[in-house]
Amino acid sequence: MLATARKYRKSGKSPVDEIEEILERIRTDTHNAFITVDEQGALESARQAEKLIESSDDPLIGVPIAVKDNICTKDIRTTCASNILTGFTPTYDATVVEKLKRRGAVILGKTNLDEFAMGSTTTTSNIGPSLNPWDPGRTPGGSSGGSAAAVALNLCAGALGSDTGGSIRMPASFCGITGLKPTYGSVSRYGLVAFASSLDQIGPMTSSARDAALLFDAVKGHDPLDSTSVPQEYLPTDLDGLDLDGMRIGVPDDFFAEGLNPEVEQAVRFGISILENLGAKVRRIRLPHIRYGVAVYYIIATAEASSNLARYDGVRYGSRAPHAEDLVEMYLETRSKGFGAEVKRRIMLGTYVLSAGYYEAYYKKASEVRSLIASDFDEAFAECDLIAGPASPVTAFGLGEMADNPLSIYLLDIYTIPANLAGLPALSIPCGFDTEGLPVGMQLMAPCFREDLLLGAGISFQDHTKFHQVKP
Ligand code: GLN
Repeated sequence: MLATARKYRKSGKSPVDEIEEILERIRTDTHNAFITVDEQGALESARQAEKLIESSDDPLIGVPIAVKDNICTKDIRTTCASNILTGFTPTYDATVVEKLKRRGAVILGKTNLDEFAMGSTTTTSNIGPSLNPWDPGRTPGGSSGGSAAAVALNLCAGALGSDTGGSIRMPASFCGITGLKPTYGSVSRYGLVAFASSLDQIGPMTSSARDAALLFDAVKGHDPLDSTSVPQEYLPTDLDGLDLDGMRIGVPDDFFAEGLNPEVEQAVRFGISILENLGAKVRRIRLPHIRYGVAVYYIIATAEASSNLARYDGVRYGSRAPHAEDLVEMYLETRSKGFGAEVKRRIMLGTYVLSAGYYEAYYKKASEVRSLIASDFDEAFAECDLIAGPASPVTAFGLGEMADNPLSIYLLDIYTIPANLAGLPALSIPCGFDTEGLPVGMQLMAPCFREDLLLGAGISFQDHTKFHQVKP
């Protein structure tokens, strides 16, 4: 994003030329990163940017941004990669989109995802999976895989994703880009299609931590239209980075447990040693309850999803079964045909854990363990400023791999889920490659509303490393 701004300001490049070039790259690209490209809208905004740029030095003017297709965009269809939303075009912009437009950014279109953001591969998308820019036979990760691929392929200057259980950080690590899951309540969810409302957050996906800071600063802040948005002062990120000297970084033993690919471990440990060389004081810590994270998440997230997705009944949004005899049959047919297998599995699991007799055993218990996980972090942050570990236990795997074993895919969320359960901000930044040349992501976590620390540390790390500059 800053690179695009420099092109306009320093080299005098015209935003219209830039956007035309990007649109041409998108047209000829074969990674299935976009569901919808708004060529006309993008060119119109580029023409406006051309004028705006004369009178304002806002670095966002004319900068091409891609938006995950579960974030509402006025007059651009929003599909959530689901057949049930066929024909749905929002009449309003999500707050994040409105904020970007107001700053003069160019919205290019909507990126691919797992259906309703449920998944880790984009293979549950109704248009088929996106392909990993580093190896088209592999997944870009998910659910914000289209956004991650678009950034890595330079099909946009930055993108928005959403993260309920890792959907920004995991694809960021698989595609070698930077991804931030902000503090719960710091970015408005107004206009984000709800998956699990107590976990969902929108965040930036970019090619550097500096760009992530720019994009985060543009979309964060209180929004009266989202009742979970927190009214408070938000600390700006210092784009010069953070002095890491004396910064206390906790490394949880629990993040280096069974199931972690040894090459990922090696790269992440190397990343941590770089932070140490920059002056950070690294120490081992424990987060004893995070091993229950996956179990807790797949109860809470499915429970909330089953309730949120009840609204797709063929009456208010999207598609409707055409030949039903009565109302119940219409509901049944619309939902049976409209949702894919993974979404149905989540709705059924969620309905089950909320049902009378099971609620106490599952949902209530999970909520209690969720509090224990949050207290683990409170204790950890009493003695360290940041926490570091892997973003994902593996690097990008083959498309369709594990497709018949959803549980093994759920288990890949082990390192990302805790931040969602505790509401914390977490960042994935490139920290190396495995022996096949696939990128590895290091995850940094901070206390609530300390994105300034997280991004500042990320900027300093990237000022001393080149992993984020390596292109597929
Ligand atoms: N992999 C997780 C899931 O399938 C993450 C989803 C997300 O963050 N949107 O639920």
